[in-house]
Amino acid sequence: MKIAVLKERAEGETRVALTPETAKKFIALGADVAIEAGAGEAAAISDAAYTDVGATVGPAQEALKDAGIVLGVQAPDPATLGGAKEGAFVAALFDPFRERERVDAYAKAGLEALSMEFMPRITRAQSMDVLSSQSNLSGYKAVIAAADQYGRAFPMMMTAAGTVQPARVFVMGVGVAGLQAIATAKRMGAQVSATDVRSATREQIESLGAKAIFVAEGGIEGEGSGGYASEMSDEYKAAQAKLVSEHIAKQDIVITTALIPGRPAPRLISDDQIATMKPGSVIFDIAVPQGGNVEGAVADQLVTRHGVTIMGYANTPAHLAPDASALFARNLYNFLSAFWDAEEGRPVLDEEIGDAVRLTQGGQVVSARLLEAG
Ligand code: NAD
Repeated sequence: MKIAVLKERAEGETRVALTPETAKKFIALGADVAIEAGAGEAAAISDAAYTDVGATVGPAQEALKDAGIVLGVQAPDPATLGGAKEGAFVAALFDPFRERERVDAYAKAGLEALSMEFMPRITRAQSMDVLSSQSNLSGYKAVIAAADQYGRAFPMMMTAAGTVQPARVFVMGVGVAGLQAIATAKRMGAQVSATDVRSATREQIESLGAKAIFVAEGGIEGEGSGGYASEMSDEYKAAQAKLVSEHIAKQDIVITTALIPGRPAPRLISDDQIATMKPGSVIFDIAVPQGGNVEGAVADQLVTRHGVTIMGYANTPAHLAPDASALFARNLYNFLSAFWDAEEGRPVLDEEIGDAVRLTQGGQVVSARLLEAG
């Protein structure tokens, strides 16, 4: 089995889907590993680091030739995968709901697209879950970037020249990214509060030493379906807007992370609410690539509204390329190695995970989730 990895072609993508560590592990399973020259460069991995562990480095076409598996961070254009074997697995992020045409093109090309964002949220698949590994780093980076933009200090400092007040940080959406944002802001000495629609997060917020700010009724009981939130009722949204309005005026930094699978990110902060914040405050909207939680947020731009800076990256994990690549690559290895059939010398996927992540097979779109969405 030959595994090929190309240099990422999407704008601003600095990550790579294979590290020397995972290349070595795939080779130990019996696979041949080929990677395009320069693929690791933006993640601070040299070509020599791959050849040192036994991988082949060369031009894209050579890497792809007869590959049965292609690994990517963002799914490549199937038109560029010509040399791969008929029915080759391509494991990457596909953004399937928004990039439906690309999925159709994968079906047409006879490739088997495996969408890493469709990994089911079951205990067995935790180590394969790229959304978790990348969100964790995004939550951290958002706080660091917002702190850097903020003109004041985070921790309380008692000095001979007087006291510096601690920053107040409010985290909206307490999934993987939000929990890491809370932990990071706490470590930096801020006073942290947080909110979510899922009631299970209250205990998680409090266990990190932050204050939980919750709408009294109408939230999602427990973890929600598969750990995910859904669209909220109009009554809930109104109660949430009122709560946010009361709280946000006193905050210095707001980090928003709220997402709903298969839908645009919910709008959590309006321009009117931003107007109540103190000048110099900073809002970091992690959900900007999915449409944004904050009115006026623009990816990769510093927007100033009412003296408040609104920011967010088009690709937050790409700002931590070496760590993000290391975790992403391990997720891919954990996934494929868990199903590796020693006799066949290739992964044989099961129903629970295979059917969840498989978008295309035998020339057809086969993902139930995608077909349901129409
Ligand atoms: P996510 O990225 O889909 O969403 C981020 C957060 O935004 C979620 O907590 C969500 O409830 C919240 N949110 C959505 N709409 C909101 C709104 N209108 N207002 C406020 N908050 C809103 O979520 P995630 O980070 O991927 O994780 C969600 C949960 O799934 C977590 O509890 C996590 O521990 C769990 N999880 C489990 C596994 C596993 O078991 N394999 C893997 C990953 C995550």
